[in-house]
Amino acid sequence: MKLYFYGGAGEVTGVKYLLEIKRGSKKINILVDCGIVQGGREQAEENYREFPFNPKKVNYLFVTHAHIDHIGLVPKLYKDGFRGKIFTTPPTKDLMKLVLTDSYQIFEKESRETGKEPLYKKEDVEQALTLVNTVDYSEKQKLEDEIYFKFNDAGHMLGSAIIEIWASGKKIVFSGDLGNAPTPLLNPPTKITEADYILVESTYGDRVHENRNERKEVLENIIEETFSQKGVLMIPAFAVERTQELLCELNELVVNHRIPQLPIFIDSPLAVKATEIYKRYPEYFNKEASKLILGGHDLFRFSGLSYTEQVEDSKAINRILPPKIIIAGSGMSAGGRILFHEKFYLPNPKNCLLITNFQVRGTPGRQIIEGNKNVKILDEEVPIRAKIASIEGYSSHADQKALYNWLDNFLKPVKHIWTVQGEEKSAEALAQLVKDHLGIPASVPKKGEMVEL
Ligand SMILES: [Zn+2]
Repeated sequence: MKLYFYGGAGEVTGVKYLLEIKRGSKKINILVDCGIVQGGREQAEENYREFPFNPKKVNYLFVTHAHIDHIGLVPKLYKDGFRGKIFTTPPTKDLMKLVLTDSYQIFEKESRETGKEPLYKKEDVEQALTLVNTVDYSEKQKLEDEIYFKFNDAGHMLGSAIIEIWASGKKIVFSGDLGNAPTPLLNPPTKITEADYILVESTYGDRVHENRNERKEVLENIIEETFSQKGVLMIPAFAVERTQELLCELNELVVNHRIPQLPIFIDSPLAVKATEIYKRYPEYFNKEASKLILGGHDLFRFSGLSYTEQVEDSKAINRILPPKIIIAGSGMSAGGRILFHEKFYLPNPKNCLLITNFQVRGTPGRQIIEGNKNVKILDEEVPIRAKIASIEGYSSHADQKALYNWLDNFLKPVKHIWTVQGEEKSAEALAQLVKDHLGIPASVPKKGEMVEL
């Protein structure tokens, strides 16, 4: 059996692992995730290149969750000849449709501007989705003779999974992205106790989340400050998961009168649709959240909150006098409606930009959080005079301590752990920690590297 690290190796995004299982004269190829590389122009170019494997020869694709860095190239995989089966959870299937429909429209728009062939088209998205089979959590299933798999709750976003694969007498665990428990909505990542090999995410492999316990108080303080300054609080947020988690927190602050009344806008058509999908799956939430939802509480609606789907409504937000809160995508300020608000409000010191998720290298969000005085937004140099705040405790990724604790559940002997989906520094730090304290061989794979299992 061979394992190829085609993406997510020494980098956070572009996740793609190929497992090649030899069965007599036949080879069975399982791809785990097929994500887009995010970041600057160079990274964007990489997505247009040919796959480093033959998509026609991939028999199965397992999808851990519906973030674009894990699913963004699935339609391209179809376009380039993949006709195998895709397995994922029911919510991930719905979210894939939403996210990929949004992404092909972005590529078509880009293509109209640059004259370049789009990465994929509507038909590729539609056809790729016809290949999806859904599986529930915690059910061990047979894929082929002597090959089994199981999806387990990863607690990272709705429907996210840790995938276990049994083949050739060995067991490999793909962590996907692991959640940052406890969260307002989701369960903690499932504890797995057995594996020969583990691929573990390491986005925050070198850091412990600050403000972990006080995150809600910090959010409360930032909102109160915005209110007293009569400023605008901008929160760039991914439309899926980050927005819904923030809504739950804001809901609680509003209902319990912990913050003054001020208008809150969810300025993202994608977030509106994603929230509808969230409402369909109360059984996927943690006990407290599902009890509230099943009891008729709408966690995603409260006094002062408006969803703006239409462009006109989005523009009208500017006419509302501050104080106000605007939550919009994209989460890394690399596109979406947040850009219009940033261009307008970043130059004013009364305003605040609050970052609640990881900012990939090369994105405008990374430049902002690194303290740049200007940032290029919509082809204009925008001076940053607004306050820049960050609450890492809201990240949807486990921190170093939580990753270590999750790995500590495995009973020895694990043969090898690869730390993936993190920049070199954080992936190396986690690998070192595993070697030093768990006594398990660990390393950061090189992109394109193959290992024999
Ligand atoms: Zn993710």
